[in-house]
Amino acid sequence: MECIFCKIINGDIPSYTVYEDDVVKAFLDINPTTNGNLLIVPKKHYENIIDIDLTTLNHINKVAKKLYSLLKEKLHIDGLTLIQNNGLGQEIKHYHLHLTPRYVDDNIKHSFNKDLLIDIKDVYQKLTSE
Ligand code: 5GP
Ligand code: ZN
Repeated sequence: MECIFCKIINGDIPSYTVYEDDVVKAFLDINPTTNGNLLIVPKKHYENIIDIDLTTLNHINKVAKKLYSLLKEKLHIDGLTLIQNNGLGQEIKHYHLHLTPRYVDDNIKHSFNKDLLIDIKDVYQKLTSE
């Protein structure tokens, strides 16, 4: 079994686990963007949002709500951004939800290539045409 997150779930690789139940494990990201950066990972291996079932997704969201409260209480975070990568941008091919705490002075910026943008009406047309 090659999957790093399966190894963390099984305890073969150590992690700073802050929450665990029968369905998920939530641990600190080894390469955090901000303090308290957590990953919520289902114990069963699903690759992405297409593969995972809705009951597990719902459970992950419930845990995200719980952990937001924990982060507010213990780290006094100012906000929380949820990110979940699929395909391009997904380094680990085992479904996971990133919880990225925001702090007033964290200076996080989302940079992107505006030159790739086409007219919004053309995007809408593509998405809604048969
Ligand atoms: P992705 O790019 O797949 O959405 O995010 C994968 C995340 O997993 C990255 O933020 C990366 O820092 C984190 N990560 C990768 N390997 C490990 C590890 O061995 N332990 C922990 N705790 N996090 C990891
Ligand atoms: Zn896995």
